[in-house]
Amino acid sequence: MKKLTILGSTGSIGVSTLDVVAAQPDMFKVVALTAGNNLELLKKQIETFRPELVSVLSAESAKALGRMLTGKKPQIMHGVEGMIAAATASETTMVVAAIVGAAGLVPTTAAIMAGKDVALANKETLVTAGHLVMDMVRKKGVKLYPVDSEHCAVFQSMVGHRNEDIARVILTASGGPFLKWGKEQLKVATVKDALNHPNWSMGKKITVDSATMMNKGLEVIEARWLFDIPVERIGVNIHPQSIIHSMVEYIDGSVIAQLGVPDMKGPIAYALTYPARVPSGVRPLDLTTLSGLTFFNPDTDRFPALKLAYQAANAGESMPAVMNAANEVAVDAFLNGKIGFMAIPESIEKVMNLHQAHSVSSIDEVLAADLWGRAKAREVLGVQQ
Ligand code: NAD
Ligand code: MG
Repeated sequence: MKKLTILGSTGSIGVSTLDVVAAQPDMFKVVALTAGNNLELLKKQIETFRPELVSVLSAESAKALGRMLTGKKPQIMHGVEGMIAAATASETTMVVAAIVGAAGLVPTTAAIMAGKDVALANKETLVTAGHLVMDMVRKKGVKLYPVDSEHCAVFQSMVGHRNEDIARVILTASGGPFLKWGKEQLKVATVKDALNHPNWSMGKKITVDSATMMNKGLEVIEARWLFDIPVERIGVNIHPQSIIHSMVEYIDGSVIAQLGVPDMKGPIAYALTYPARVPSGVRPLDLTTLSGLTFFNPDTDRFPALKLAYQAANAGESMPAVMNAANEVAVDAFLNGKIGFMAIPESIEKVMNLHQAHSVSSIDEVLAADLWGRAKAREVLGVQQ
């Protein structure tokens, strides 16, 4: 039986993870849950899954949650300390890292250092601190399973193959809601437009990242670390139907892909039960009902964020953490109606130009680069937060 901690249990990935868990009650036990501000949903999850420990963001939320619960209560903690306690709980064997943003870095690395296997949805952990995280994974001998659908597809397409036989990794991207929008239209795109993703239902931050295509840029960096492939051998194809979730091309010209209906329960289940497969609740794929699968190259003129992510990956060192921080600030400002859509990539580029990449050799140094990027982004955008 796998004993799970779910970091970010009230989010889109957290909820889908608990759906997978509920469908396989003999395979999993939920040890700990952490959440942000959605106490109502957390209360329901506690009543259903009976964790021993939960953690929320603030002391006030912890008190409020305590008052909401009746009967036998779990231990209730809060803040970073609470997230770390959940990530390292002695009974836990696997941690599902499903917090959004760089806030996931500290608890996720704490889990690895405590010897826990990790199912990683929080791509920002690898974007900001990939080399350090992969070093920890190797040193601790833990398993790091990708939850991101593209990386799960790449992982599945690599099983049984040798790393040295890989020619290229090709990540697919839906293109998001603005696939066919012109530059002038993009300048006036609203929050509602950006949140209207054609194929996937996800949290707000990643949905905006999909609209700018920064999400694919973050995924290129994530793939670079997960699979130890240089960025120049990681390509992106726009594939609006989101049926092929990514591909691996081998030196003999063979391309292996993974297909499925777009539903995160598939990659989550695979990460939780690898190498076994279990019914995940994903609808079977019937290719005969589709009108065709199409592929083309991304347009980095309309979607400069993808180009910026390649630049950050090539600069390496502190640059990806700074780019990620600037993106988080800009996306937040856009979601709060403070800036326009194109100000997201424009401000990230300005922040990157102001940053001199320097080596980062500890998580604290990554966090310092993250803070620097946030402060610069606020300055560039003229916002406070
Ligand atoms: P979400 O916004 O729906 O949920 C985020 C969760 O993290 C919530 O439980 C929230 O309460 C918690 N949280 C937010 N900020 C926090 C903070 N500062 N400290 C502690 N907890 C905090 O996000 P999501 O869409 O589920 O995405 C989670 C992660 O998974 C992201 O890194 C995203 O890129 C990645 N991912 C998501 C999907 C998807 O389909 N949603 C697919 C691939 C990868
Ligand atoms: Mg993805």
